[in-house]
Amino acid sequence: MFIESFKVESPNVKYTENEIHSVYDYETTEVVHENRNGTYQWVVKPKTVKYDFKTDTRVPKLGVMLVGWGGNNGSTLTAGVIANKEGISWATKDKVQQANYFGSLTQASSIRVGSYNGEEIYAPFKSLLPMVNPDDVVFGGWDISDMNLADAMARARVLDIDLQKQLRPYMEHMVPLPGIYDPDFIAANQGSRANSVIKGTKKEQVDQIIKDMREFKEKNKVDKLVVLWTANTERYSDVVVGLNDTMENLLASVEKNESEISPSTLYAIACVLEGIPFINGSPQNTFVPGLIELAISKNCLIGGDDFKSGQTKMKSVLVDFLVGAGIKPTSIVSYNHLGNNDGMNLSAPQTFRSKEISKSNVVDDMVASNGILFEPGEHPDHVVVIKYVPYVGDSKRAMDEYTSEIFMGGKNTIVMHNTCEDSLLAAPIILDLVLLAELSTRIQFKAEGEGKFHSFHPVATILSYLTKAPLVPAGTPVVNALSKQRAMLENILRACVGLAPENNMILEYK
Ligand code: NAD
Repeated sequence: MFIESFKVESPNVKYTENEIHSVYDYETTEVVHENRNGTYQWVVKPKTVKYDFKTDTRVPKLGVMLVGWGGNNGSTLTAGVIANKEGISWATKDKVQQANYFGSLTQASSIRVGSYNGEEIYAPFKSLLPMVNPDDVVFGGWDISDMNLADAMARARVLDIDLQKQLRPYMEHMVPLPGIYDPDFIAANQGSRANSVIKGTKKEQVDQIIKDMREFKEKNKVDKLVVLWTANTERYSDVVVGLNDTMENLLASVEKNESEISPSTLYAIACVLEGIPFINGSPQNTFVPGLIELAISKNCLIGGDDFKSGQTKMKSVLVDFLVGAGIKPTSIVSYNHLGNNDGMNLSAPQTFRSKEISKSNVVDDMVASNGILFEPGEHPDHVVVIKYVPYVGDSKRAMDEYTSEIFMGGKNTIVMHNTCEDSLLAAPIILDLVLLAELSTRIQFKAEGEGKFHSFHPVATILSYLTKAPLVPAGTPVVNALSKQRAMLENILRACVGLAPENNMILEYK
């Protein structure tokens, strides 16, 4: 059975006018390697830590500024939200299609809340905590192309034409602000698109972004802003001692107009200086060490990297299944071809390299989890190929071959072929990223013994379900397995309303 909403009744949970307060027992373990009577032993000690969570339930009016607003993702997301808000439907050759938020974890997935008369009860994921309604988000942003959003939607060739016609009047007047352009960081083939750029030094460019954000907030009367990079994949920037390795060096390098500071890092600096959450949806190393240090010192949320939309999502499910089943994946080969502007940009070796890096480490945690199958340091062969094929447009093709060793020396090969509009996968993920980033800034917590409430670490691991190469604070394990990432997110939100993690034991029926 599906219910729309629920309220938790527990001595550990208090709903006040502006807050939900929950006292929570976190059941965990402590692992020690101890000398017991002359021999070292691994000892696992279960322990319970008391946490206090408080969530501000006042949902703000949210502004979202996208870097690369006029791209396929930016225009598709904007169109999709308008279509939902206006309740637009359109005729396809199959049926009359209604606008929806399919593919969004927050808007279109559910959680189990318990059972009632022997029946499982589910509720929308978004009913866990008060979240911004996507229909109410005000969108804006920057692009190095001055095309308005209606024309950008047509250029993207993603949405059905009958829908585009209905959306055009809403989007014609939406024109991205000029963007920071540096041809050294993206493919040369993007040059002809760059007709709307911010002139001046790097410092002047950062100042302009700050001015743009302040004006956007003021003009649209939004309480909060989140900025997300969905612009072209950049090449990696060099991390150099004295240049961008510390916060001071990074800020000094901006003042000195150092060429190796990338546009994406400049936007991120502007956001962090303004205390505005910044999310990176592309694979490049926007978050150089100096930027991470700056975000930590300002306690400003940063999250990334690279949307986990298609092939990698499958990989982080399939390899988790294989390794979890005691099967040894030995070779993973992934081919992609796509014909959109992202594909054209990725046809340059330097930008492809960024994508290759972010796609390559996604099985590491799963492989490392099983010492029966893999020797320490052993990895499956893992190759990623991306080719630009203009004809297929945004309809990306992903072909994957997984070869594994099974029982008694047998081999098993699984081949998959995915065809899908890339931007229709990415747009709902962008939505989730900004809504969850906003929500996470309203949650405060403290462990027993900690004096004061504090927010989550500014490097937002809570968003890792949505990213291909999750950015984590130093010393934090990287989790790529999709089901673990989803459980982490869901269980943290459950804790905020005093619900135990979903443990799937169903002891009531045993
Ligand atoms: P796109 O090329 O259609 O859009 C990118 C937009 O960014 C373009 O309009 C371009 O003019 C603009 N741009 C480039 N540099 C800019 C700058 N410095 N400032 C402002 N605007 C700038 O690409 P897309 O398909 O929308 O994808 C966007 C990004 O998302 C890409 O980096 C892609 O790799 C990443 N991504 C996409 C998916 C997916 O499924 N669609 C998945 C993971 C990552």
